[in-house]
Amino acid sequence: MPMINAYAAQSETSDLAPLDIARREPRPNDIAIDIEYCGVCHSDLHAARNDWGGTTYPIVPGHEIIGRISAVGSAVSRFKVGDRVGVGCMVDSCQSCSPCEQGLEQYCEKGMTGTYDSKLPDGSLTYGGYSKHVVVREEFVLRIPEGMDPAGAAPLLCAGITTYSPLRHWQVGPGKKVGIVGLGGLGHMGVKIAAAMGAEVTLFTTSPGKAEDARRLGASQVVISKERDQMKAVRGQFDLILNTVAAPHKLDPYLQALKLDGTMVMVGLPDEPHPPAGMGNLIMKRRSLAGSLIGGISETQEMLDFCAENKIVSDIEMIAMAEINTAYERMLKSDVKYRFVIDMATLG
Ligand code: NAP
Ligand code: ZN
Ligand code: ZN
Repeated sequence: MPMINAYAAQSETSDLAPLDIARREPRPNDIAIDIEYCGVCHSDLHAARNDWGGTTYPIVPGHEIIGRISAVGSAVSRFKVGDRVGVGCMVDSCQSCSPCEQGLEQYCEKGMTGTYDSKLPDGSLTYGGYSKHVVVREEFVLRIPEGMDPAGAAPLLCAGITTYSPLRHWQVGPGKKVGIVGLGGLGHMGVKIAAAMGAEVTLFTTSPGKAEDARRLGASQVVISKERDQMKAVRGQFDLILNTVAAPHKLDPYLQALKLDGTMVMVGLPDEPHPPAGMGNLIMKRRSLAGSLIGGISETQEMLDFCAENKIVSDIEMIAMAEINTAYERMLKSDVKYRFVIDMATLG
C-alpha cells in the first residue's frame, strides 16, 4: 500500500496535523484521483470536533474534492486517466434499495458511506479530501464541466448540491420568493443558485457587512435578522426559506416570514438543538418545517451542469493545508468570503 500525506484530527480537542494514511489499490470499478483542491465545509469542523458525537479518530475531513484521475480500474467505462473529476459527500451506498434506485443515494436505506468518518462495506474507515489522493468507486465520481474553474468548483460538491437539491425539490423558479438564511459556504451558493433559477431572493444575515456582497451574488433584498423591525417587516412574504445557519437560533421569526403554505427547509445542523418552534406559527398558515440532506449523484451532476451553464462557481479564499486550523477559527466567527478551499499542492 502506498503511504500518502493527509491532515487529520486525533481527538476532538486537537488541531489538525499531518498524518500518513493508506488508500486501497484501485479495484475494477474504482477511480484513483490526485486531489488538486478541497473545500472546507462547516461539517468538517463539526465532525473533527465531535460536535455531533460518534466521530472516530483519526479523522481526515474534506468532502468537496476536485482532482485529476491518475488511474482507473479495469471495469471503469465512463472516465479515463487525466479527466478532471469531483467527489462530494458520499463514496458508496447499497445501489439497490428504493431511494438508491431513485438516485437518492444520500437516503440509502442501508446507510450511505460518507467520504470521511464512515464505514465502507468491507468495514474500513473512510478518509476525506484533506489529502493528496483518494480512491472512489466510479458511481460516486462526478464529471467537472470543461472550462469550469477547478478551485471554485470544489465547494459545489457539498455547498452547491446541498442548496440546489431543496431549491429544485420545492420547485423554485420565476415568481417564487425565496429567503436564504446565513451567508456562509452554503448560503452564498443558495443565493447564487436561487437567483439563477429565476427566483426573487432575500438574504437573512446576522452580519450587516455582508449586505453588499449578497446583492452582488444575486439577492434583491437583505434583512438583518437581529433587527426585530426588519424581521417584522417581511412577515408572510416567502414561499420558501432555506436555513443554512450552523448555530442554534430562534426559528419562529423565520416561520412567521413564510406565506400561507410556505416551507422552511433546514440544512444547517448545529451541535445543540434550536429552541422549540411555536406550533401556532405552523398551524395558523399551514406552513411546513422540513429538512434536506445533500443531494443524489445524478442530481449533483445536473447541478454541476446547471452551474456551468449559468457561469456559477463558489467565491473562495484559497488557503494552504497548514492554514486549516486558523480557517476553522475564522469559520466559527462567520468570517469566510465565502468558502475556504485548500490548495493541495501545498501538502507534502
Ligand atoms: P458556514 O460557512 O460557517 O456558514 C454558516 C453561516 O451561518 C454563517 O456564515 C453565518 O451567516 C450564519 N451564522 C453562524 N452563526 C450564527 C449564529 N449564531 N446565529 C445566526 N447565524 C449564524 O457553514 P456552512 O459550511 O455553510 O454550513 C452550514 C451548516 O450546514 C453547518 O451546520 C453544516 O454542518 C450544515 N451542512 C448541512 C448539509 C446537509 O446536507 N443538510 C450539508 C453541508 C453542511 P451570516 O454571517 O450571514 O449570519
Ligand atoms: Zn459539507
Ligand atoms: Zn441503498
